[in-house]
Amino acid sequence: MEEEKVEVVIVGAGLAGLSAAYVLAQEGVDTVVVERGDYPGAKNVTGGRIYMYPVARYFPELWEDAPLERHVTRETLTMMAENCSTSITLDSDRFREEPYHSYTILRSKFDRWFGDKVMEAGAFVLPKSRADDVIMEDGRVAGIRMGDEDEIPADVVIAADGVLSLMAEKAGLRQAQQPKHFAVSVKEVIELPSKTIEDRFSLGPNEGTAQLFFGDLTKGMMGGGFLYTNINSISLGLVVGIESLMERDPKIEVHELIEDFKARPEIRNLIAGGEIVEYSAHVIPEGGVNAMPRLYSDGILVVGEAAGFGLNMLLTVRGMEFAVGSGVMAAETIMKARESKDYSAASLSYYEELVKESFIFKDLHSFRNVLSMLENPRLFNFYPQAVCDIFEKLMWIDENPKAKISSTVIREGISKFLNWSTIRDVAGMLRI
Ligand SMILES: Cc1cc2nc3c(=O)[nH]c(=O)nc-3n(C[C@H](O)[C@H](O)[C@H](O)COP(=O)(O)OP(=O)(O)OC[C@H]3O[C@@H](n4cnc5c(N)ncnc54)[C@H](O)[C@@H]3O)c2cc1C
Repeated sequence: MEEEKVEVVIVGAGLAGLSAAYVLAQEGVDTVVVERGDYPGAKNVTGGRIYMYPVARYFPELWEDAPLERHVTRETLTMMAENCSTSITLDSDRFREEPYHSYTILRSKFDRWFGDKVMEAGAFVLPKSRADDVIMEDGRVAGIRMGDEDEIPADVVIAADGVLSLMAEKAGLRQAQQPKHFAVSVKEVIELPSKTIEDRFSLGPNEGTAQLFFGDLTKGMMGGGFLYTNINSISLGLVVGIESLMERDPKIEVHELIEDFKARPEIRNLIAGGEIVEYSAHVIPEGGVNAMPRLYSDGILVVGEAAGFGLNMLLTVRGMEFAVGSGVMAAETIMKARESKDYSAASLSYYEELVKESFIFKDLHSFRNVLSMLENPRLFNFYPQAVCDIFEKLMWIDENPKAKISSTVIREGISKFLNWSTIRDVAGMLRI
Protein backbone atom coordinates (compact mmCIF):
# COMPACT_ATOMS: atom_id res chain seq x y z
CA MET A 1 0.00 0.00 0.00
CA GLU A 2 1.48 3.37 -0.97
CA GLU A 3 1.03 6.07 1.63
CA GLU A 4 0.73 9.76 0.84
CA LYS A 5 4.09 11.43 0.31
CA VAL A 6 5.54 13.22 3.36
CA GLU A 7 8.36 15.74 3.50
CA VAL A 8 10.58 13.78 5.88
CA VAL A 9 10.54 10.16 7.03
CA ILE A 10 12.84 9.26 9.89
CA VAL A 11 13.79 5.64 10.56
CA GLY A 12 14.38 5.05 14.27
CA ALA A 13 12.89 6.74 17.34
CA GLY A 14 16.11 6.88 19.35
CA LEU A 15 17.67 10.12 20.54
CA ALA A 16 18.95 11.06 17.07
CA GLY A 17 15.68 10.43 15.23
CA LEU A 18 13.48 12.04 17.88
CA SER A 19 15.73 15.12 18.11
CA ALA A 20 15.49 15.65 14.35
CA ALA A 21 11.73 15.05 14.42
CA TYR A 22 11.16 17.46 17.30
CA VAL A 23 12.94 20.35 15.52
CA LEU A 24 11.25 19.62 12.17
CA ALA A 25 7.78 19.32 13.72
CA GLN A 26 8.21 22.62 15.54
CA GLU A 27 9.03 24.23 12.19
CA GLY A 28 5.84 22.79 10.69
CA VAL A 29 7.59 20.21 8.48
CA ASP A 30 5.43 17.19 7.66
CA THR A 31 7.41 14.46 9.47
CA VAL A 32 6.87 10.76 10.18
CA VAL A 33 9.09 8.63 12.45
CA VAL A 34 8.95 4.85 12.08
CA GLU A 35 10.14 2.74 15.00
CA ARG A 36 10.35 -1.05 15.03
CA GLY A 37 9.93 -1.29 18.84
CA ASP A 38 6.58 -1.37 20.63
CA TYR A 39 7.25 2.24 21.69
CA PRO A 40 10.22 4.63 21.47
CA GLY A 41 12.84 3.38 23.90
CA ALA A 42 11.57 -0.21 23.94
CA LYS A 43 14.69 -1.33 22.07
CA ASN A 44 17.15 1.33 23.21
CA VAL A 45 20.12 0.45 25.36
CA THR A 46 22.53 2.84 26.96
CA GLY A 47 24.90 2.72 29.93
CA GLY A 48 24.08 5.32 30.70
CA ARG A 49 24.73 8.84 31.52
CA ILE A 50 24.12 11.93 29.46
CA TYR A 51 26.36 15.00 29.61
CA MET A 52 24.18 18.10 29.72
CA TYR A 53 26.52 20.88 28.58
CA PRO A 54 26.76 19.73 24.94
CA VAL A 55 22.97 19.24 24.62
CA ALA A 56 21.49 21.99 26.83
CA ARG A 57 21.63 24.44 23.90
CA TYR A 58 19.16 22.29 21.95
CA PHE A 59 15.48 22.58 23.05
CA PRO A 60 16.28 23.91 26.57
CA GLU A 61 12.56 23.92 27.42
CA LEU A 62 12.48 20.12 27.12
CA TRP A 63 15.38 19.32 29.43
CA GLU A 64 13.66 21.18 32.31
CA ASP A 65 10.97 18.49 32.62
CA ALA A 66 12.82 15.52 31.16
CA PRO A 67 12.56 12.23 33.11
CA LEU A 68 16.27 12.04 33.92
CA GLU A 69 17.45 9.95 36.88
CA ARG A 70 20.20 11.20 39.26
CA HIS A 71 22.73 13.97 38.67
CA VAL A 72 26.21 12.47 38.91
CA THR A 73 28.28 13.84 41.79
CA ARG A 74 30.91 11.11 41.98
CA GLU A 75 33.12 9.58 39.27
CA THR A 76 35.12 6.41 39.89
CA LEU A 77 37.55 4.54 37.68
CA THR A 78 38.38 1.02 38.85
CA MET A 79 41.21 -1.18 37.58
CA MET A 80 40.37 -4.80 38.32
CA ALA A 81 43.04 -7.46 38.75
CA GLU A 82 42.17 -11.11 39.35
CA ASN A 83 41.76 -10.89 43.12
CA CYS A 84 41.95 -7.19 43.91
CA SER A 85 41.19 -3.81 42.43
CA THR A 86 42.34 -0.22 42.69
CA SER A 87 39.99 2.73 42.28
CA ILE A 88 40.40 6.44 41.76
CA THR A 89 37.39 8.51 42.85
CA LEU A 90 36.57 12.11 42.15
CA ASP A 91 33.93 13.57 44.44
CA SER A 92 33.61 17.23 43.60
CA ASP A 93 31.36 20.09 44.74
CA ARG A 94 31.46 21.34 41.17
CA PHE A 95 29.28 18.36 40.24
CA ARG A 96 26.73 19.48 42.86
CA GLU A 97 26.26 22.90 41.28
CA GLU A 98 23.34 23.63 38.95
CA PRO A 99 23.07 23.33 36.03
CA TYR A 100 24.27 19.80 36.66
CA HIS A 101 27.08 18.39 34.56
CA SER A 102 25.53 14.99 33.81
CA TYR A 103 22.59 12.74 34.68
CA THR A 104 22.04 9.02 34.67
CA ILE A 105 19.25 8.05 32.29
CA LEU A 106 17.02 5.07 31.50
CA ARG A 107 16.25 5.18 27.80
CA SER A 108 13.08 3.09 27.97
CA LYS A 109 11.59 5.85 30.14
CA PHE A 110 13.25 8.85 28.50
CA ASP A 111 12.65 7.98 24.83
CA ARG A 112 9.01 7.13 25.45
CA TRP A 113 8.49 10.56 27.02
CA PHE A 114 10.46 12.24 24.21
CA GLY A 115 8.32 10.40 21.64
CA ASP A 116 5.19 11.93 23.25
CA LYS A 117 6.76 15.42 23.07
CA VAL A 118 7.52 14.88 19.38
CA MET A 119 3.88 13.91 18.78
CA GLU A 120 2.68 16.98 20.69
CA ALA A 121 4.94 19.12 18.48
CA GLY A 122 3.12 17.72 15.43
CA ALA A 123 5.12 14.79 14.00
CA PHE A 124 3.75 11.23 13.73
CA VAL A 125 5.62 8.49 15.55
CA LEU A 126 4.65 5.05 14.23
CA PRO A 127 5.70 2.26 16.63
CA LYS A 128 5.84 -1.43 15.63
CA SER A 129 6.89 -0.32 12.12
CA ARG A 130 10.13 -1.69 10.70
CA ALA A 131 11.73 -0.13 7.63
CA ASP A 132 13.22 -2.82 5.39
CA ASP A 133 14.52 -0.86 2.43
CA VAL A 134 14.80 2.54 0.84
CA ILE A 135 12.81 3.46 -2.29
CA MET A 136 15.21 4.42 -5.09
CA GLU A 137 14.00 6.65 -7.93
CA ASP A 138 16.34 7.86 -10.67
CA GLY A 139 19.34 7.07 -8.47
CA ARG A 140 18.07 9.04 -5.46
CA VAL A 141 16.45 7.93 -2.21
CA ALA A 142 12.75 8.72 -2.37
CA GLY A 143 11.27 7.13 0.76
CA ILE A 144 11.20 3.82 2.61
CA ARG A 145 9.65 0.37 2.23
CA MET A 146 8.15 -1.60 5.11
CA GLY A 147 7.62 -5.27 4.27
CA ASP A 148 6.46 -6.15 0.74
CA GLU A 149 3.46 -3.86 0.64
CA ASP A 150 3.91 -0.65 2.61
CA GLU A 151 5.80 2.37 1.37
CA ILE A 152 6.27 5.88 2.68
CA PRO A 153 7.47 8.16 -0.14
CA ALA A 154 9.32 11.25 1.12
CA ASP A 155 11.43 14.19 -0.02
CA VAL A 156 14.14 13.15 2.47
CA VAL A 157 14.89 10.09 4.58
CA ILE A 158 16.84 10.42 7.83
CA ALA A 159 18.57 7.15 8.73
CA ALA A 160 18.49 7.21 12.55
CA ASP A 161 18.30 3.44 12.88
CA GLY A 162 21.29 2.94 15.15
CA VAL A 163 24.60 1.17 15.04
CA LEU A 164 23.95 -1.45 12.34
CA SER A 165 21.99 1.00 10.13
CA LEU A 166 20.18 -0.99 7.45
CA MET A 167 19.05 2.25 5.79
CA ALA A 168 22.62 3.55 5.30
CA GLU A 169 23.57 0.14 3.92
CA LYS A 170 20.61 -0.04 1.52
CA ALA A 171 21.37 3.48 0.29
CA GLY A 172 24.96 2.39 -0.44
CA LEU A 173 26.49 4.75 2.13
CA ARG A 174 28.24 2.16 4.28
CA GLN A 175 31.20 0.01 3.41
CA ALA A 176 31.71 -3.52 4.69
CA GLN A 177 32.29 -3.34 8.43
CA GLN A 178 35.22 -4.88 10.32
CA PRO A 179 34.62 -6.71 13.64
CA LYS A 180 37.31 -4.57 15.28
CA HIS A 181 35.09 -1.52 14.79
CA PHE A 182 32.38 -2.93 17.05
CA ALA A 183 31.93 -4.09 20.62
CA VAL A 184 29.09 -6.06 22.16
CA SER A 185 27.52 -5.08 25.45
CA VAL A 186 25.25 -6.67 28.01
CA LYS A 187 23.43 -4.65 30.60
CA GLU A 188 21.16 -5.35 33.54
CA VAL A 189 18.91 -2.89 35.33
CA ILE A 190 18.74 -4.01 38.96
CA GLU A 191 15.96 -2.53 41.04
CA LEU A 192 16.62 -1.45 44.64
CA PRO A 193 14.84 1.05 46.90
CA SER A 194 16.06 4.59 46.47
CA LYS A 195 17.11 4.83 50.15
CA THR A 196 19.15 1.62 49.88
CA ILE A 197 21.02 3.05 46.89
CA GLU A 198 21.72 6.31 48.73
CA ASP A 199 22.95 4.46 51.84
CA ARG A 200 25.11 1.94 49.96
CA PHE A 201 26.75 4.52 47.76
CA SER A 202 26.77 7.32 50.36
CA LEU A 203 24.72 9.65 48.18
CA GLY A 204 22.36 12.49 48.99
CA PRO A 205 18.80 12.56 47.56
CA ASN A 206 18.92 12.72 43.73
CA GLU A 207 22.74 12.41 43.76
CA GLY A 208 24.25 9.67 41.65
CA THR A 209 27.49 7.89 41.00
CA ALA A 210 29.14 6.72 37.78
CA GLN A 211 31.78 4.02 37.85
CA LEU A 212 33.80 2.58 34.97
CA PHE A 213 35.88 -0.59 35.24
CA PHE A 214 38.62 -2.19 33.20
CA GLY A 215 40.89 -5.16 33.69
CA ASP A 216 40.19 -8.73 34.71
CA LEU A 217 36.41 -8.46 34.21
CA THR A 218 36.93 -8.86 30.44
CA LYS A 219 39.51 -11.67 30.94
CA GLY A 220 42.25 -9.90 29.00
CA MET A 221 39.96 -8.83 26.15
CA MET A 222 39.41 -5.25 25.01
CA GLY A 223 36.48 -3.77 26.92
CA GLY A 224 35.28 -2.67 30.32
CA GLY A 225 32.35 -2.37 32.67
CA PHE A 226 30.04 0.31 33.98
CA LEU A 227 27.77 0.99 36.94
CA TYR A 228 25.35 3.92 37.15
CA THR A 229 22.88 4.63 39.95
CA ASN A 230 19.36 5.59 38.85
CA ILE A 231 16.53 6.76 41.14
CA ASN A 232 15.56 3.26 42.23
CA SER A 233 17.79 0.99 40.19
CA ILE A 234 21.38 0.33 39.22
CA SER A 235 22.49 -0.01 35.59
CA LEU A 236 25.31 -2.54 35.48
CA GLY A 237 26.97 -3.91 32.39
CA LEU A 238 30.03 -4.67 30.40
CA VAL A 239 31.33 -4.20 26.90
CA VAL A 240 33.78 -6.43 24.97
CA GLY A 241 35.40 -5.88 21.58
CA ILE A 242 33.87 -8.29 19.05
CA GLU A 243 37.26 -9.11 17.50
CA SER A 244 38.80 -9.91 20.92
CA LEU A 245 35.82 -12.12 21.69
CA MET A 246 36.10 -13.97 18.36
CA GLU A 247 39.84 -14.53 18.76
CA ARG A 248 39.78 -15.63 22.40
CA ASP A 249 40.89 -19.17 23.12
CA PRO A 250 39.29 -20.78 25.09
CA LYS A 251 36.01 -19.21 24.06
CA ILE A 252 33.87 -17.42 26.60
CA GLU A 253 30.30 -16.11 26.37
CA VAL A 254 29.46 -12.52 27.31
CA HIS A 255 26.76 -13.64 29.75
CA GLU A 256 29.42 -15.65 31.64
CA LEU A 257 31.51 -12.49 31.93
CA ILE A 258 28.67 -10.52 33.49
CA GLU A 259 27.88 -13.31 35.95
CA ASP A 260 31.55 -13.36 37.05
CA PHE A 261 31.57 -9.55 37.25
CA LYS A 262 28.47 -9.54 39.47
CA ALA A 263 30.01 -12.18 41.73
CA ARG A 264 33.07 -10.02 42.46
CA PRO A 265 33.07 -8.67 46.05
CA GLU A 266 33.38 -5.11 44.71
CA ILE A 267 29.99 -5.52 42.97
CA ARG A 268 28.00 -8.20 44.78
CA ASN A 269 27.54 -6.17 47.98
CA LEU A 270 26.32 -3.17 46.02
CA ILE A 271 23.60 -5.09 44.19
CA ALA A 272 22.66 -7.53 46.99
CA GLY A 273 18.89 -8.02 47.29
CA GLY A 274 18.24 -6.25 43.99
CA GLU A 275 15.86 -7.59 41.34
CA ILE A 276 16.81 -7.68 37.66
CA VAL A 277 14.01 -5.82 35.87
CA GLU A 278 15.67 -5.39 32.46
CA TYR A 279 18.33 -7.36 30.57
CA SER A 280 19.63 -6.21 27.21
CA ALA A 281 22.41 -6.84 24.72
CA HIS A 282 23.55 -4.38 22.09
CA VAL A 283 26.32 -3.61 19.62
CA ILE A 284 28.43 -0.44 20.06
CA PRO A 285 30.46 1.33 17.36
CA GLU A 286 34.14 1.68 18.28
CA GLY A 287 35.63 2.70 14.94
CA GLY A 288 35.18 6.48 15.37
CA VAL A 289 36.15 8.67 12.42
CA ASN A 290 38.01 5.75 10.84
CA ALA A 291 34.76 3.84 10.29
CA MET A 292 32.28 6.62 9.51
CA PRO A 293 29.92 6.00 6.57
CA ARG A 294 29.12 8.73 4.03
CA LEU A 295 26.80 11.09 5.89
CA TYR A 296 24.50 12.11 3.02
CA SER A 297 23.45 11.35 -0.52
CA ASP A 298 20.59 12.40 -2.80
CA GLY A 299 17.50 12.34 -0.56
CA ILE A 300 19.10 10.86 2.59
CA LEU A 301 21.00 11.92 5.73
CA VAL A 302 22.57 9.61 8.33
CA VAL A 303 22.56 10.60 12.03
CA GLY A 304 23.56 9.30 15.47
CA GLU A 305 25.03 5.84 15.83
CA ALA A 306 23.91 4.99 12.29
CA ALA A 307 26.67 7.42 11.30
CA GLY A 308 29.13 5.80 13.74
CA PHE A 309 28.92 8.74 16.17
CA GLY A 310 30.01 6.93 19.33
CA LEU A 311 33.17 7.38 21.35
CA ASN A 312 34.91 5.30 23.96
CA MET A 313 37.28 7.78 25.63
CA LEU A 314 38.48 5.19 28.16
CA LEU A 315 37.46 7.47 31.04
CA THR A 316 33.97 7.95 29.69
CA VAL A 317 31.55 6.65 27.03
CA ARG A 318 29.77 9.11 24.75
CA GLY A 319 27.15 8.81 22.07
CA MET A 320 23.91 10.37 23.29
CA GLU A 321 25.05 13.98 22.86
CA PHE A 322 26.28 13.11 19.38
CA ALA A 323 22.89 11.60 18.60
CA VAL A 324 21.01 14.71 19.77
CA GLY A 325 23.44 17.11 18.06
CA SER A 326 23.51 15.29 14.73
CA GLY A 327 19.69 14.95 14.74
CA VAL A 328 19.34 18.71 15.17
CA MET A 329 21.95 19.38 12.47
CA ALA A 330 20.10 17.11 10.04
CA ALA A 331 16.88 19.03 10.79
CA GLU A 332 18.65 22.36 10.19
CA THR A 333 20.01 21.04 6.89
CA ILE A 334 16.53 20.02 5.78
CA MET A 335 15.10 23.43 6.74
CA LYS A 336 17.72 25.09 4.55
CA ALA A 337 17.21 22.67 1.63
CA ARG A 338 13.44 23.19 1.92
CA GLU A 339 13.78 26.86 0.99
CA SER A 340 14.71 25.85 -2.57
CA LYS A 341 13.07 22.38 -2.47
CA ASP A 342 16.46 20.97 -3.39
CA TYR A 343 17.18 17.71 -1.59
CA SER A 344 20.07 16.68 -3.82
CA ALA A 345 23.40 15.48 -2.40
CA ALA A 346 24.91 18.88 -3.19
CA SER A 347 22.27 20.65 -1.11
CA LEU A 348 22.35 18.10 1.75
CA SER A 349 26.16 18.27 1.96
CA TYR A 350 25.55 21.24 4.30
CA TYR A 351 24.92 18.59 7.00
CA GLU A 352 28.50 17.33 6.74
CA GLU A 353 29.76 20.90 7.02
CA LEU A 354 27.76 21.36 10.23
CA VAL A 355 28.99 18.06 11.70
CA LYS A 356 32.62 18.81 10.83
CA GLU A 357 32.43 22.24 12.47
CA SER A 358 30.81 20.83 15.61
CA PHE A 359 31.97 19.12 18.81
CA ILE A 360 30.90 15.79 17.27
CA PHE A 361 33.55 15.56 14.59
CA LYS A 362 36.15 17.46 16.61
CA ASP A 363 35.88 15.04 19.55
CA LEU A 364 35.81 11.95 17.32
CA HIS A 365 38.89 13.26 15.54
CA SER A 366 40.79 14.17 18.74
CA PHE A 367 40.22 10.68 20.15
CA ARG A 368 40.76 8.77 16.90
CA ASN A 369 43.71 6.82 18.35
CA VAL A 370 41.90 5.47 21.41
CA LEU A 371 40.98 2.25 19.63
CA SER A 372 44.61 1.31 18.87
CA MET A 373 45.47 1.95 22.51
CA LEU A 374 42.58 -0.22 23.68
CA GLU A 375 43.86 -3.08 21.55
CA ASN A 376 46.80 -3.47 23.96
CA PRO A 377 46.06 -6.52 26.22
CA ARG A 378 48.52 -5.25 28.87
CA LEU A 379 45.95 -2.58 29.72
CA PHE A 380 43.53 -5.29 30.82
CA ASN A 381 45.84 -7.71 32.62
CA PHE A 382 49.34 -6.42 33.39
CA TYR A 383 48.64 -2.84 34.59
CA PRO A 384 45.65 -3.53 36.91
CA GLN A 385 47.64 -6.35 38.55
CA ALA A 386 50.87 -4.30 38.83
CA VAL A 387 49.09 -1.32 40.44
CA CYS A 388 47.23 -3.60 42.87
CA ASP A 389 50.47 -5.36 43.84
CA ILE A 390 52.20 -2.08 44.69
CA PHE A 391 49.25 -0.80 46.74
CA GLU A 392 48.93 -4.11 48.53
CA LYS A 393 52.62 -4.05 49.48
CA LEU A 394 52.23 -0.50 50.80
CA MET A 395 49.15 -1.33 52.86
CA TRP A 396 50.22 -4.73 54.22
CA ILE A 397 51.53 -4.84 57.79
CA ASP A 398 52.94 -8.10 59.11
CA GLU A 399 55.31 -9.31 61.81
CA ASN A 400 58.41 -8.08 59.89
CA PRO A 401 59.76 -4.49 59.99
CA LYS A 402 58.04 -2.32 57.34
CA ALA A 403 60.12 -0.95 54.44
CA LYS A 404 59.93 2.78 53.79
CA ILE A 405 57.16 3.91 51.44
CA SER A 406 59.69 5.49 49.08
CA SER A 407 61.87 2.38 48.84
CA THR A 408 58.81 0.13 48.22
CA VAL A 409 57.53 2.45 45.48
CA ILE A 410 60.96 2.79 43.82
CA ARG A 411 61.78 -0.94 44.02
CA GLU A 412 58.37 -2.07 42.76
CA GLY A 413 58.15 0.71 40.19
CA ILE A 414 61.54 -0.18 38.67
CA SER A 415 60.87 -3.91 38.63
CA LYS A 416 57.43 -3.58 37.06
CA PHE A 417 57.53 -0.50 34.85
CA LEU A 418 61.13 0.15 33.80
CA ASN A 419 61.03 -1.89 30.58
CA TRP A 420 60.54 -1.36 26.86
CA SER A 421 56.93 -2.53 26.87
CA THR A 422 55.89 0.13 29.36
CA ILE A 423 57.85 2.85 27.54
CA ARG A 424 56.10 1.83 24.31
CA ASP A 425 52.70 1.88 26.08
CA VAL A 426 53.35 5.34 27.54
CA ALA A 427 54.35 6.60 24.08
CA GLY A 428 51.05 5.17 22.76
CA MET A 429 49.10 6.92 25.53
CA LEU A 430 50.61 10.26 24.53
CA ARG A 431 48.65 9.95 21.25
CA ILE A 432 45.27 10.20 22.98
C1 LIG B 1 25.86 -0.62 26.83
C2 LIG B 1 25.92 0.78 26.29
C3 LIG B 1 26.34 1.80 27.11
C4 LIG B 1 26.35 3.11 26.64
N1 LIG B 1 26.65 4.11 27.51
C5 LIG B 1 26.55 5.38 27.10
C6 LIG B 1 26.70 6.44 28.03
O1 LIG B 1 26.87 6.22 29.23
N2 LIG B 1 26.65 7.71 27.54
C7 LIG B 1 26.41 7.98 26.22
O2 LIG B 1 26.33 9.16 25.84
N3 LIG B 1 26.24 6.99 25.33
C8 LIG B 1 26.29 5.71 25.74
N4 LIG B 1 26.08 4.71 24.85
C9 LIG B 1 25.84 5.05 23.45
C10 LIG B 1 24.43 5.59 23.24
O3 LIG B 1 23.49 4.70 23.81
C11 LIG B 1 24.16 5.73 21.74
O4 LIG B 1 25.17 6.53 21.17
C12 LIG B 1 22.82 6.37 21.45
O5 LIG B 1 21.77 5.61 22.00
C13 LIG B 1 22.63 6.47 19.93
O6 LIG B 1 21.35 7.00 19.67
P1 LIG B 1 20.68 6.76 18.26
O7 LIG B 1 19.38 7.48 18.30
O8 LIG B 1 21.65 7.10 17.19
O9 LIG B 1 20.46 5.20 18.15
P2 LIG B 1 19.55 4.25 19.03
O10 LIG B 1 19.33 4.79 20.36
O11 LIG B 1 20.14 2.89 18.90
O12 LIG B 1 18.15 4.29 18.28
C14 LIG B 1 17.93 3.65 17.05
C15 LIG B 1 16.45 3.33 16.96
O13 LIG B 1 16.17 2.84 15.65
C16 LIG B 1 15.28 1.75 15.75
N5 LIG B 1 15.45 0.96 14.52
C17 LIG B 1 16.56 0.29 14.14
N6 LIG B 1 16.37 -0.28 12.93
C18 LIG B 1 15.12 0.07 12.54
C19 LIG B 1 14.35 -0.22 11.39
N7 LIG B 1 14.84 -0.95 10.39
N8 LIG B 1 13.10 0.27 11.32
C20 LIG B 1 12.57 1.04 12.33
N9 LIG B 1 13.27 1.33 13.47
C21 LIG B 1 14.53 0.85 13.56
C22 LIG B 1 15.69 1.05 17.02
O14 LIG B 1 14.66 0.24 17.53
C23 LIG B 1 16.00 2.23 17.91
O15 LIG B 1 14.86 2.67 18.61
C24 LIG B 1 26.02 3.39 25.30
C25 LIG B 1 25.63 2.34 24.45
C26 LIG B 1 25.55 1.06 24.94
C27 LIG B 1 25.06 -0.04 24.04
